[in-house]
Amino acid sequence: MTDRARTVLAGLDGIRSKLEALYKDLHQNPELGLREQRTAKKASDALRSCGYEVTAGIGGTGVIGVLANGDGPVVMARADMDALPVREETGLLYASTVTVTGADGSEQPVMHACGHDVHVTCLIGCAQLMAQAKDAWRGTFVALFQPSEENGDGADAMIEGGLTSRAPRPDVVLAQHVLPYPAGYVGIRPGSFLSAADSLRITVHGRGAHGSMPQAAVDPVVMAAMIVVRLQTIVSRELAATTSAVVTVGSIHAGSGPNVIPDSAVIELNVRTYDDTSRTQVMDAIERIVRAECQASRSPKAPEIERIASFPSTINDEETTRRVAEAFAAHFGGDAHTIDLQTASEDMSEIPKAFGAPFTYWGIGGIDPDRYAEAVRKGTIAEDIPVNHSPTFAPVVQPTLDTGVSAMAVAALAWLGT
Ligand code: ZN
Ligand code: ZN
Repeated sequence: MTDRARTVLAGLDGIRSKLEALYKDLHQNPELGLREQRTAKKASDALRSCGYEVTAGIGGTGVIGVLANGDGPVVMARADMDALPVREETGLLYASTVTVTGADGSEQPVMHACGHDVHVTCLIGCAQLMAQAKDAWRGTFVALFQPSEENGDGADAMIEGGLTSRAPRPDVVLAQHVLPYPAGYVGIRPGSFLSAADSLRITVHGRGAHGSMPQAAVDPVVMAAMIVVRLQTIVSRELAATTSAVVTVGSIHAGSGPNVIPDSAVIELNVRTYDDTSRTQVMDAIERIVRAECQASRSPKAPEIERIASFPSTINDEETTRRVAEAFAAHFGGDAHTIDLQTASEDMSEIPKAFGAPFTYWGIGGIDPDRYAEAVRKGTIAEDIPVNHSPTFAPVVQPTLDTGVSAMAVAALAWLGT
């Protein structure tokens, strides 16, 4: 451990119990994307109380806190704040029982099923430690709390809300995510880390008729079925065997009864890719196949292809990541790892992109280490270890929080001056 990291992290003993209480409080009071008022207030209050200059309400509920501490680099650390519409089944004493009314009037459960409560707590902890140990570093530390990561629109909301003119331009942006690895684990990798995700809604048009008179119809059910099957050939027949991608049709809807040929069908699909070349190739292939199948079926009207959600790929800057990985190795020793490529997606990279700054993003573990070791021993990781978004995913309090606070501080200190 470097002396500076030791100095900054010496304060952790004094704030640990408060951070643990904060984590449980956030876990019990989750908020969906763009509704994170309570969480944002917790973050703002915590930052203000230790001397940060706080700007709240950026892009709705986004918060930044700036701690200027002399000449030196500007480091921005980002945490996402939102929870998911999942009913919690962890059985924890601090489990969420929160429900909200959805857009359709139905009751929606809310749960921190992705661990963003860990991210918020760890960034608050790191921000407090940086403020308590200002003699150990020079520069500016910016803590950024982002809304609505799960919907893929929170980073953009902050940028549209004027983020780049309201925060100093960072020299580097840092972010972390809790993942289903043993607590205490820290994993980073240069280059591709998370996939890009694109969701499309495709409406194909036919001509409705009586089910007994196909000659009078153009059948959109058959058209959609052909499209679904042919889309499977993009990954298997158009991409190189060494290129990773996923094309999943998650929803298909047409018709309302057995004896009526409907006049349209709607397909919703999700695409995961790891670089711009394969992303463009897959998206172009989808459009080509959809249009060609419609033409082959005598569709009377061009299909509508809408992009309903889009996450960029998360590609860690090589040099930035090397520097942070070295700092992790020095601090965490055998707990610092090179992590595998992940198929999840994130909108975090929009923030550094808006500033023209490099970034690095890493994972920390959140599973009880004994439970994880037992699952490894029994070969039951897939069955026994809950993953993000599962109703039983709840990172253990420790050593998850200590690791997340330490990782963020160590990474920041790899940049901040002496
Ligand atoms: Zn998530
Ligand atoms: Zn997440």
